[in-house]
Amino acid sequence: MESDTITAISTPMGEGAISIVRLSGKEAIPITMTLFRGSDLSKVDSHTINYGTIMDPDTDEIAEEVMVTVMRSPKTFTREDVVEINCHGGITAVNRILQMILAKGVRLAEPGEFTKRAFLNGRIDLSQAEAVMDVIRAKTDKAMNVALKQMDGRLSQLIRKYRQTLLETVAHVEVNIDYPEYDDVEEMSEEMMREKTKEVHANIEELLNVAKQGKILREGIATAIVGRPNVGKSSLLNSFVQESKAIVTEIPGTTRDIIEEYVNVRGVPLKLVDTAGIRETEDIVEKMGVDRSRKVLTESDLILFVLNYNDEVTEDDRQLFEAIDDLEYIVVINKTDLERQIDLDEVKQLAGNHPVVETSLITDEGMDALESAISNMFFSGDVGNQDVTYVSNARHIQLLKEAKQTLEDAMEALENGMPLDIIQIDVTRTWELLGEIIGDTASDALIDQLFSQFCLGK
Ligand code: GDP
Repeated sequence: MESDTITAISTPMGEGAISIVRLSGKEAIPITMTLFRGSDLSKVDSHTINYGTIMDPDTDEIAEEVMVTVMRSPKTFTREDVVEINCHGGITAVNRILQMILAKGVRLAEPGEFTKRAFLNGRIDLSQAEAVMDVIRAKTDKAMNVALKQMDGRLSQLIRKYRQTLLETVAHVEVNIDYPEYDDVEEMSEEMMREKTKEVHANIEELLNVAKQGKILREGIATAIVGRPNVGKSSLLNSFVQESKAIVTEIPGTTRDIIEEYVNVRGVPLKLVDTAGIRETEDIVEKMGVDRSRKVLTESDLILFVLNYNDEVTEDDRQLFEAIDDLEYIVVINKTDLERQIDLDEVKQLAGNHPVVETSLITDEGMDALESAISNMFFSGDVGNQDVTYVSNARHIQLLKEAKQTLEDAMEALENGMPLDIIQIDVTRTWELLGEIIGDTASDALIDQLFSQFCLGK
C-alpha cells in the first residue's frame, strides 16, 4: 500500500529545551531538503544526526538552527523513511517549522498515525501498539515496566503460542475426521481435544488472574476516603500528597470540576476519588445523600474509613461499617496522639477481616503501616518484579474473558459427548478471539478507533 507523507509535532506542546517535528513517508527526506541548509541529506548515512539551518522559503533567511535525524526505510519505527527535526523548545519555533512543512503539501498526521503505520507495515502488532500508548500514560515506574514488557511483545508471544496450540489441535482433529480409517482415531482426537483445551484454558485463566493487578498499575487504585467530619480525612489526603508529589488531573466540563489526584504508594498509584468533595464538605455521605455516596463507594477499589481515636464509635460509624461490609476497606483510627476514647475491641469486631491501622497525622505516625496494608491488600509479594506478563488493557481483558468462555463451552460439549466437528466451532472461535488481541483478526473499524485514542505526533 502506497501511503502519503505525514508530519506532526512529536513533543508536548509546552516549554522545553528541544522540540521535534517528525515526518514519515517517501517525501520525508526530499521535502526536508527543500527547507534545510547543511549536509546533503540525500547522501548522508541512515540514522545520523545532521546539523544545519531551516531557511524560510519566503524570505530566504535563517528561521531556525536545527539538528536533523535521517532514518531510512525499513529500519525505522514506521518502516518508512523518517526525518526528525530537532529545534529549539517552545511552541513558536516548532510551529513555524511545522507550518513550512505543511506548506510544502505534506499532510498533518492524525493522532496515532505514526504508530498505526508501524502496525500496518508489520513492525509491531496491535497489543504492542496499545502498549506505546500505555507507556505515554504510565503514572508510576511499575506501570511503565508493565507497558514496556507489553511493547516488547511479551503478551503477543504468549497469545501466539496459545493460538498455535489451538490451531494444531483443530488441524489434527480435522485430518482425523477426514481420514477415519484407523479405529482409535476418534478416541485419540477426543483425548487431544480434552487435553489441549484444558491447557489453554488454564493459561488464559492465569493471565486473567494477574489482569486485575495490571489494571491497578495502569489506572491506579480508585480510593475513597470516608468518615465523619473532623476525623482527619483531608489531613490524610494531604499526607499522601506531600509524601508522593501527587499528579493532579482536572477533568473539566462537570458541574464542579472533579479533581483526581494520583499519589504513589510504594510504586502503586492510588487514584483518590472525588477529592474536591472531601476538601469542600465535611462528610460525603451527608452531602451527597446515601444513594450517590453508595455509588462512589461501590465504584472504588479501596475505601479508607477514618475513625477518631479520641471519640467513641457512633451510630453513623456503625451504619457506614454496614454499608461497606462487602467492599475492600481499611479502617484508619486517627489521632492516636490524643487520649483514647474509642473502644478498640468494638472496632475490631465491626471490621471483621479488614485491616485496622492506627495513625497520628499530626505526629506523622502510622503512615508506614497504612501503606503496607494498602500494598498487601492488592499485591502479595513485591509488585512488578516478578516475571509475569500483566494484561492491563480493558479490551484485552474482555477478549480473554470471552475466549475463556468459549473454551469452557467446548469443554462442556466434550464432556457431554457432542461430536468433534461441533466442538471445533468453539475452539476456532477461541482462536479468533485471541487473534483480535494481537490484531490478526481485528476489523478495520476497531483499528481506526484504537489508533484515534493516541496523542498527536505518536
Ligand atoms: P476531615 O473533616 O475529616 O477532613 O478532618 P480534617 O483533616 O480537616 O481534620 C480535622 C482536624 O483534626 C484538623 O484540625 C486537623 O488538624 C486535626 N487532625 C487531623 N489529624 C490529626 C491527628 O492525628 N491528631 C490530632 N491531634 N489532630 C488531628
